[in-house]
This record gives sequence, structure tokens and C-alpha cells, in this order.
Amino acid sequence: MLTDSQLSQIRAIVGAENVHGGPAELIAYSYDGTFEQHPPDVAVTPASTEEVAAVMRFAYQEEIPVVTRGAGTNLSGGTIPLTGGIVLALTRMNRIIEIDHVNTCAVVEAGVVNGEFQARVESEGLFYPPDPSSLAQSTLGGNVACCAGGPRCLKYGVTKDYVLGMTVVLSSGEVLEWGGKLFKNVTGYNLAQLFIGSEGTLGVVTRIILRLLPLPRVRNTAVAFFPRLDDAAAAVVGVMGAGILPATLEIMDQATINVVEQYVRIGLPTDVEALLLLEQDGNDQDAVDREVARMVEVCRKHGASDVRMAKDAAERNELWRARRSISGALGRYRPSKLGEDIVVPRGQIPAVVRRIREIGQEFGLAIPVFGHAGDGNLHPNILFDFRVPGELERVQGAAAAIFRAAIALGGTLTGEHGVGSLKKEFLEEAVGPLAVQIMRDIKAALDPKGLLNQGKMFPSGSGPAMEDFLTALPTLQGITPG
Ligand SMILES: Cc1cc2nc3c(=O)[nH]c(=O)nc-3n(C[C@H](O)[C@H](O)[C@H](O)COP(=O)(O)OP(=O)(O)OC[C@H]3O[C@@H](n4cnc5c(N)ncnc54)[C@H](O)[C@@H]3O)c2cc1C
Repeated sequence: MLTDSQLSQIRAIVGAENVHGGPAELIAYSYDGTFEQHPPDVAVTPASTEEVAAVMRFAYQEEIPVVTRGAGTNLSGGTIPLTGGIVLALTRMNRIIEIDHVNTCAVVEAGVVNGEFQARVESEGLFYPPDPSSLAQSTLGGNVACCAGGPRCLKYGVTKDYVLGMTVVLSSGEVLEWGGKLFKNVTGYNLAQLFIGSEGTLGVVTRIILRLLPLPRVRNTAVAFFPRLDDAAAAVVGVMGAGILPATLEIMDQATINVVEQYVRIGLPTDVEALLLLEQDGNDQDAVDREVARMVEVCRKHGASDVRMAKDAAERNELWRARRSISGALGRYRPSKLGEDIVVPRGQIPAVVRRIREIGQEFGLAIPVFGHAGDGNLHPNILFDFRVPGELERVQGAAAAIFRAAIALGGTLTGEHGVGSLKKEFLEEAVGPLAVQIMRDIKAALDPKGLLNQGKMFPSGSGPAMEDFLTALPTLQGITPG
């Protein structure tokens, strides 16, 4: 609990109207895209780097825990204030400060919403590729903190490939300015990359300099249907080996196709085991069309029974609406789901998909799989009803088995969503004890009092991974994450 005196000092920094402590407000800041829930003592919405720094200096002096929050869409438990304290929500810091055509970059505040930024730069003929499916809500600061990716990242790279510089407020309140409008910079350690993907455990990113590209003028989209899932997985490897780098190569298995079709009703065949959504972009329509035709040919060679090309922007948008509706569609199927985010080497996609099917059967659970097949980044979503006795335990067992299957195939726990609280007990299995120790040392150097995002990223060390994971979820509220 914060004292009245502490609260009035925070009010003096950001203004009383930006300090939120009512019951409804505390609930609003108590959850994210996952199942966990815990209220903060107070939520604060600062308007500038200076205000963030002053709040951090005060929290450091008073030893109050701080959780930074963007839009709260993360799927790792990353913004749950597990130990209370201050939630520092950056949504008011939402100015696009500059779009610089000479240096093809932009300077933004951390609370700018990704989709709004994309629309703005595209209106000026420029392009910001990282496109998480949450782009209509998630913030660029949250994207940096989680190193967000999306369908276009196969060709264009993820958030870390676009950050040229940033302003970060450390837990002490000191302000680090790093990088600039510089496309090359090897002056010392690359500190920006240290903060990218650090999930709010090392500092508060308040301002970002983002690289932009010229906007590709044309694109072409196709969808290929496969009676056999294994053939679709093999086609992914075939397309990537055909000398083409698609803008997008997404996979949906039969269970996903079924729930999506029930939701969007665009005539997807529900009797096939998988579909691949393929897209290419560029500046020359003929060249783009040729590459899509080549990808389609590879799909047919690998057993695609039917292929549809989007005839126009409307059809293309319809296919993308189906892809972006997956989360909502799955939410209608069962009341709860645990959306995982494993990555395997691309060549191991058939093996991991087969193993996930076996795990679903072993644990008696529906586990639709979809994701960024070209990246080897798959989202097995475990569907369940937390009110059914024993079902939650089976979900936890299945999740652990999926993590271990990915690791055994040379893969890892997460490609986009991060570790947060939900995967922290598996961190050491994935990266090894030395890597965890180095991470702990970095954390101690930058956040010596351990105030930032307590209870996240690092294993609790209190027992075997599985048992800790079992205790992490009983706070389930039945909220369906995205
Ligand atoms: C329907 C749905 C679809 C999704 N699809 C994708 C996808 O395709 N690709 C993908 O990568 N992710 C996806 N996500 C996950 C999520 O949207 C991303 O992780 C996103 O980057 C989080 O942004 P946010 O603004 O919501 O951050 P939050 O959820 O508010 O925060 C996420 C983490 O970053 C920290 N943080 C936030 N802002 C800052 C900051 N300014 N400085 C320091 N730390 C900060 C927080 O403490 C927390 O640990 C999806 C989520 C949903 C619900």
C-alpha cells in the first residue's frame, strides 16, 4: 500500500487527474492478454520523459515496484503488477514527433499505437513493416519491449531491425539517450538491443527512432489448401527453397480453419487439413505476380488440392480478415485458451506439428495450430474450459510438453510474446544456466533494487519448472486472451 504522502508526491509530479486509484481503475490495470490478474496500488499516466524520470526517481527512493504498460495486449503476463506498486501506463505519450523523409526514419513517443503509425507513414509513401496482429491496439513502446513480429517479418525482419535509437529512463530515474538517425552505429555495445525484448525489466522506453522503408507499390496474395497437413508443412520448406523470399507465409491447421470459417464465413473449405496464406509485394506487378505463381506451383507440387488467388484488394482484405480473426474465432470455441508461441528451425515444422497433435491426443485437448510458418514460429492454442475440474492441469501438462518438444527439435519457447510470468520457469531449460546468470547480472546492473517488473522473466528457483507453472495459473479469471 502506498501512503497518502507518497500518493500526493506522485500527484505533484503528473497532476492529480493522471493518478488513478479508484476500484474500477485498479481492475483495468490489473490484467493483460493472459489469465493472471493482480491490481497495482496506483496507476500513473505521465505525459513526458521528464515526468517518467521524476516518477522513477521517486519510486527508486521509496523502493516502490514499477510495471510499465503500453496497451496491455501482451500474452505473457508481462504487465500484471504481481507485487502491486505503480503501473506506469504510457498511453498519453502518443505523439508522432517527426517523420523524416531525408533520413527515412521517424521519431515517436512510446505510446503511439502501431496501426496508427503505419497508416500515417503509409499516407506519406513510407513503410513500417513490423505488423503484430494486435497492431490496432498495441503500442510501439510495447512492441519494442517485446520485440514484436508479425506476418511481414519473414521478409522484412522484426521490431529490433527497425530501432535506430531510443530514450530510456532507468530505474534510478537517470535518462539514457542512445543512437540517433544513424543506419550504422557500432560505437560500443549496442545498448538499444539490450532494451529491445527486455519486457520492461530493464528500463522504461519513452521515445524511439524507427527506420522506415519506401512503401511497396503492389502486392499479390494467394491461399493454398492441403488435404494433408504434412504436405503443407513440406510446401513451406519447398517455397523457401525455391529462391523466393515471400512477404508472408502463414499456416492454419484444420481446427483453426474450421473455427475461422464459422466466424468469418468466406467459404474456406473445412475438409482440408491445412492452408497456407502466401503473399508477395514489390514495385513491379509482373515480377510480383510471377513470384506468387511460382509459390503456387510449388504448393501444387507438394499436394495442394486447390489454390485461390486474390483477384483484387477486397479479396485480399477478406483473406487477411480471416487470418486476423483467428484469436476472436478461437475464443468462441471454448471459454479459455492458452496461446503459445514456440519457434523451431523451419525444417522441423512437420515434426513439431505432428508432435503437437500427439500432445493434444495425450492430454485430451483441442490444440489448433497457426502461425508464421516461414519463420518457424507457430502458435499452438490450447483450448479449454477452466471451470471443468482437472482440465487446467491437463492444459499445463500439454503446455510443458509443447515447450519441451520445441526445445528438443532445436527450437525455443517464444518468438514474439516473450517470457513474462507464464514461461519464466522454462527459461533455464531453453537457454541454459549460464545465460540466465548473465541475464540476472545485467538486470542487477541496470535495476539494482529489483523494482522493475517484479516476478517476471526469471525462474523463481523455488522448485521444478512444472510445479511452479502449476502454481502460476490458479488466478485464472476465465478471460479469453487474444
Ligand atoms: C489478439 C492479439 C494478437 C497478437 N499478435 C501478436 C503478433 O502477431 N506478434 C507479436 O509480436 N505479438 C502479438 N501479440 C502480443 C502483444 O500484442 C505484443 O507483445 C505487443 O508488442 C505488446 O504491446 P503493448 O503495447 O500491448 O504492451 P504491453 O502489453 O502493455 O506490455 C508488454 C510488455 O512490455 C513492457 N512495456 C510496455 N511498454 C513499455 C515501454 N514503453 N518501455 C519498457 N517496457 C514496456 C511491459 O512491462 C510488458 O512487460 C498479440 C496479442 C493479442 C492480444
